[in-house]
Amino acid sequence: MIWRPPDAVWHASAARQEATGLAVVQLGAPVLRRRAEEVEQVDEGVRTLVERMFATMYAADGQGLAAPQVDVSRRIAVVDVPPRPGTPYALINPSVIAASDSVVRAVEGCLSIPGVNETVERPAEVVVEALDIRGEPFRLEAAGDLARCLQHEIDHLDGILYIDRISPLARRMLLTRFRKQQRALVE
Ligand SMILES: [Zn+2]
Repeated sequence: MIWRPPDAVWHASAARQEATGLAVVQLGAPVLRRRAEEVEQVDEGVRTLVERMFATMYAADGQGLAAPQVDVSRRIAVVDVPPRPGTPYALINPSVIAASDSVVRAVEGCLSIPGVNETVERPAEVVVEALDIRGEPFRLEAAGDLARCLQHEIDHLDGILYIDRISPLARRMLLTRFRKQQRALVE
């Protein structure tokens, strides 16, 4: 179930389609491990960044993107969970204010750790509060893929990656697969 005021939605616009994509940083970049800074003011700079983050996410066929992934250490995330057309959300200074006791396991990947994925256990439902692109607070009650995506992106803002939420063995195996693939790309 989702609840939010209609103005919390990031409406598709010509501007968004024309926005230029950004380079996505990969595992190993220090920015991915830093706690991102609160956004003091939702200004034009933030809105432009949000547009470019959406463009980057759609170009990479992703469902979510956090600002640290484009080398910007600020608490900003965008999500749009399929089926398309989905409902795009821009979240500024988001936080999970409540999570269900019930958990669910599903496969996750990350644009910063391309080519691999793993099953991650997370609360099935969450309540998230954030500011929208006008600086207005909104609340989102989410379940399913949206709940998962929101948790994944908000983790990024705290320097947490989904590979931190899997077993040490699964993480070692995933990193081995990832490095092997990276080497194959270089060769
Ligand atoms: Zn990610």
